Amino acid sequence: MRSTQELWEAALGEIQLQVNKPNFRTWFQETKGISYQGDQFVIGVPNIFVAEYFETNQRSLIEKTLVGLTNCNITVRFLVNSAQLDSPAGYTRRGTAANNITSPTRFNLKYTFDSFIVGSSNRLAHNAALGAAQNPGQDYNPLFIYGGVGLGKTHLLQAIRYFAQTQNQAVLYVSGEQFTNEFINAIREQKTDEFRRKYRDPDILLVDDIHFINGKKSTAESFFHTFNALHNSGRQIVLTSDRPPKSIPGLEEKLRSRFEWGLTATIEPPNLDTRLAILQAKAKQTGADIIPEVLTLIAQQARGNIRELEGNLNRVLAYAKLLGAKPTLELACHALKDISSKATEDNHSTPTLIITAVAESFQRTSQDLTSRRRDKETALARQIAMYLVRRQNGCSLAEVGLALGGRNPSTVSHACQKIDCYVKNSPLLNRKVKQIQKTINLKLKGKVFQ
Ligand code: ADP
Ligand code: MG
Repeated sequence: MRSTQELWEAALGEIQLQVNKPNFRTWFQETKGISYQGDQFVIGVPNIFVAEYFETNQRSLIEKTLVGLTNCNITVRFLVNSAQLDSPAGYTRRGTAANNITSPTRFNLKYTFDSFIVGSSNRLAHNAALGAAQNPGQDYNPLFIYGGVGLGKTHLLQAIRYFAQTQNQAVLYVSGEQFTNEFINAIREQKTDEFRRKYRDPDILLVDDIHFINGKKSTAESFFHTFNALHNSGRQIVLTSDRPPKSIPGLEEKLRSRFEWGLTATIEPPNLDTRLAILQAKAKQTGADIIPEVLTLIAQQARGNIRELEGNLNRVLAYAKLLGAKPTLELACHALKDISSKATEDNHSTPTLIITAVAESFQRTSQDLTSRRRDKETALARQIAMYLVRRQNGCSLAEVGLALGGRNPSTVSHACQKIDCYVKNSPLLNRKVKQIQKTINLKLKGKVFQ
């Protein structure tokens, strides 16, 4: 029989073929196979950033590889500092920790109202969640929160749970999947009374990803009765989903209408300001010393998803830690290289890099372009930068203005029109802009940083 470490080394051998070299070196090199018991495989990782990165980005690859090698079901757990096998610093699988209704865990403490950054994209959902936690069963019942992946739905639900626990409210948090599994098991094991008691007892029922029950007729029926029983006795229900009730396929009309009885609040992707605020808060939590330019770069890269935003921050920090260097702008570009070259393919390049490239071609610095400097050459370079950021990156006028030192959207709009006209009518300027574009593409493919 192979030891845990031997099994892990075999897994590393396969993983090495699936991720690129720098990634493998950065993330996997310092890991260890710690223990393998039942279906749980514990992997030792050097620090919290690597643990977070694995949680967010590599869990499924690792599990798939281990399942392939053992032919058994495996759930991995990442443990920071292998010396403390049972310490609370161990990273348990998010789902397992979250589904437990006993005392608050590390993950609960991370997902609180205090750590939730409010912006225009999530204000309604946040306020409603807070209202449901403070006055359960009164203002919005049910509260139905929907939005894309990684936008904070689970965070808000966990925040309600944590708040309710501090108020000694009986609160039950489950995922739609867990509800379904428990219902099926209750039927199979003839424990439906126990199931009913569990779900009709709490003051607050929180169901994450409720859309999971769609198409499962008897589970949906059981949820319908649970819903009615709780609602009739004034208990609070909060549900989340990746889409609004009317777009959940196969959802029966009677459930759909109940989901819409209270308040339906959407969470939109955050704008650049909110993304920056979230990153600043996360950076502060980690205690790491990161210059604003690096945070801006990360915020500009991950545009739609906060999980990705966090993953990229962790990636930069882990990279710096492993190299024993400070997280400078250059190091961040290097750490995010794979991501940014993928982004180039989608035509989402990085404003910071664009601004630097334009500045260099005019023998200026990027600070010159973001400053108030007004000489003719600098002003022209700035306008070209606005034009290219807008074109290559698809940023809004406001985002372009922000990237260039807080200019008005109308100034940006004027600059873009002017350069567009120059590019069409002046061969000299056309050539210059094309040359800059070429440099930007090279930079984004990482050639400049190698
Ligand atoms: P969802 O359930 O919508 O897929 P999550 O709630 O799991 O997304 O959020 C993904 C990550 O982003 C979590 O680590 C969460 O803490 C973080 N996050 C999301 N929204 C915010 C926010 N407004 N402020 C701070 N962190 C956030
Ligand atoms: Mg979620």
